[in-house]
Amino acid sequence: MTGTRSEIVVIGGGHNGLVAATYLARAGHQVTIFEARDELGGAVASKEVFEGVAARLSRFSYLVSLLPTSIINDLGLRVELRSRQVKSYTPVDGTGLLVERQEGRPTRDSFQALTGNDREYRAWSAFEAELQELAAVIEPTLTQPLPRAADLRARVDQEFWSSVVERPLGQLIEARFADDIVRGVVLTDALIGTFSSAHDASLRQNRCFLYHMIGNGNGEWKVPVGGMGTVAAELVRVAQEAKVSINTGCGVDAIKPLAGDGATVSLANGQSISAATILVNCAPATLQRLLGKPSDAQAGSQTKINIVVRRLPRFRSGVEPALGFSGTLHLGQGYGRLQQAYEDALTGQIPDPMPCEIYCHTLTDGSILDPELRAAGCHTLTLFGMHTPASLFTSDPAGSRERAKDAALRSLQSVLAEPLEPCLALDRRGEPCIEVMTPLDIEAELGMPGGHIFHGDLAWPWLADDASVTTAAERWGVATDHRGILLCGSGAIRGGAVSGLGGHNAAMAVLEDD
Ligand SMILES: Cc1cc2nc3c(=O)[nH]c(=O)nc-3n(C[C@H](O)[C@H](O)[C@H](O)COP(=O)(O)OP(=O)(O)OC[C@H]3O[C@@H](n4cnc5c(N)ncnc54)[C@H](O)[C@@H]3O)c2cc1C
Repeated sequence: MTGTRSEIVVIGGGHNGLVAATYLARAGHQVTIFEARDELGGAVASKEVFEGVAARLSRFSYLVSLLPTSIINDLGLRVELRSRQVKSYTPVDGTGLLVERQEGRPTRDSFQALTGNDREYRAWSAFEAELQELAAVIEPTLTQPLPRAADLRARVDQEFWSSVVERPLGQLIEARFADDIVRGVVLTDALIGTFSSAHDASLRQNRCFLYHMIGNGNGEWKVPVGGMGTVAAELVRVAQEAKVSINTGCGVDAIKPLAGDGATVSLANGQSISAATILVNCAPATLQRLLGKPSDAQAGSQTKINIVVRRLPRFRSGVEPALGFSGTLHLGQGYGRLQQAYEDALTGQIPDPMPCEIYCHTLTDGSILDPELRAAGCHTLTLFGMHTPASLFTSDPAGSRERAKDAALRSLQSVLAEPLEPCLALDRRGEPCIEVMTPLDIEAELGMPGGHIFHGDLAWPWLADDASVTTAAERWGVATDHRGILLCGSGAIRGGAVSGLGGHNAAMAVLEDD
C-alpha cells in the first residue's frame, strides 16, 4: 500500500464511518476505511463482558433515538428498535414517579401522589407538547443541509425557542415546575455526557437537552433488539456489500494535507496513502493531533457500569421490578442533588451517592441472553453515572474507579428493599458481574479523547444567522480547516450520539461536490 492512492479514505470504522463509506461506495466511489481497533462500530458494540456468562451487553452506548428511519431505509439495515413500556421511574422515599411511554392514568396518578396535586402533571404535559412541536420542526432538517436559526425560530413559539435556545435551561425548568424531583427528571436529559449545571452560561446543557428531545420527531429512546452490536454488524454487512475496503487493526498516525485537496495519511504500520477526500470519524481533537497541531480535547464526565443480575432486586417503593427497571430509572437526581453533585465534582470529589440512570435491556429484549440465563431469570442492567469528569480519575485511576463504583451502587442500593449483592450474577471465577468504565477507560478502549462520549460538547443543529458558508462541507456541518478533509463522526455538527448523521451528512457533502 506504500504510496498508493484511494479516492476516499475514512479514518475510523465507528458507526458513522461505516455509514459514510456505504453511501459513498454505493454512489460509485472507491472507499477505504482504516480502523485502529480490531473491531468495527466504535461505541456501537456488544460484548460478552463476563467470562462464562453468555450475556451480550451493549457495552458502551445502549439506547437509540437519533438514528433517522430514512438512514435505516436508505442503507437497508435489518435492525429493530423496540419501544419500552415505561419511559422513566424515579423512586423517592418509599414511593416514586412513574412516567409511561404512552402516558395515561397511572402517570397522572403518580404525579398526583408524589406532588399532592395535579399542577405538576399539567405542567409536564404542556411542556412535552411544546417540545414535540419543536422536535417536529428540527428533526427533519437533520438529514438536510444546515438550516438557519432564523428559519427554524420563525416556525415555532418564539418564547419557547428563547427559553430552550437562548437562556440557561435552569430558568425554564424552575419557571415550569415546582417539585424538586420533577425538575431533576427534566434536567437529567441535559446532563448525559455533559458536565454542566442547570444555569451554565455556555448553554451546553441546553444543547444536550435538545438532542435528547428531538430524535425521530418525538424524542423516544428505543432498545436495539439484539443489542448495539446488531446495529454495528448490519452496518458492516452493508459496507461490505457496497465493496468498501475495510482495514482493522490499522490506525492512522499522521495526516499531511496536500497542496490541493486532500491529504496523505500515514498508518501505524509505516505505510501511507493519499486521497483527495479524507473523512475523519475520529474526534476533532484526534484530528488536530494527527495534523501535528495542539489539541484542546473536552473531557467526558460519565461512569458507565454494566451489570448482570441473577434476578432483579425489589424496590422499597413496592413497584414491580419489571416495571421500575424497564424504563429509565432515575437515581439521586433531585434537582438540588444534581447541583450538589456538580459542585462536589468541581471540587474534586466523586459525587456520593452518584446521580445515575439505569435501564434493563432484557426486560424489553431478552435475545441478548443465552436461553439458559433467560430461563433462570437473569437480566442485564446498564448504569450511566453522571457528574464524574475525567479529572476525578487521573491521579488514582484504579482507586477512584472503585470509589465511583461504590458511589453508583450506593445510589442503587438506597432505593432497594433488599441487598443488591445476592442478586448479582457471578462470572466463572466467582466474581460479581460488574464492569466499571470511567472516562479514562472509555478513552483507552475507544480512543475518544478524554472519554467524551460525543467527541466534544454538542453544537446547535443549525447555522447562526450571520454565519457565512461557501462550501458543501460547511453547508452540511462537516467542514474542517482543510479542504478535502471532512468530519464524518460525532464531532460533526449534528454528529453526536448513535445517529449515523455525521456519516450521512459527510457523504452528502461529498456527493454535492461531485
Ligand atoms: C459509554 C457510552 C454510552 C453512550 N450511550 C449512548 C446511548 O445510549 N445512545 C446514544 O445515542 N449515544 C450514546 N453514546 C454516544 C455514542 O455512542 C457516540 O456519540 C457515537 O457512537 C459515536 O460514533 P462515531 O462513529 O462518530 O465515533 P466512535 O464510535 O468513537 O468511532 C470512532 C472510531 O474511530 C477509531 N479511531 C480513532 N482514532 C483513530 C485513528 N487514529 N486511526 C484509525 N481509527 C481511529 C476508533 O477506534 C473508533 O472505532 C454513548 C457513548 C459512550 C462511550
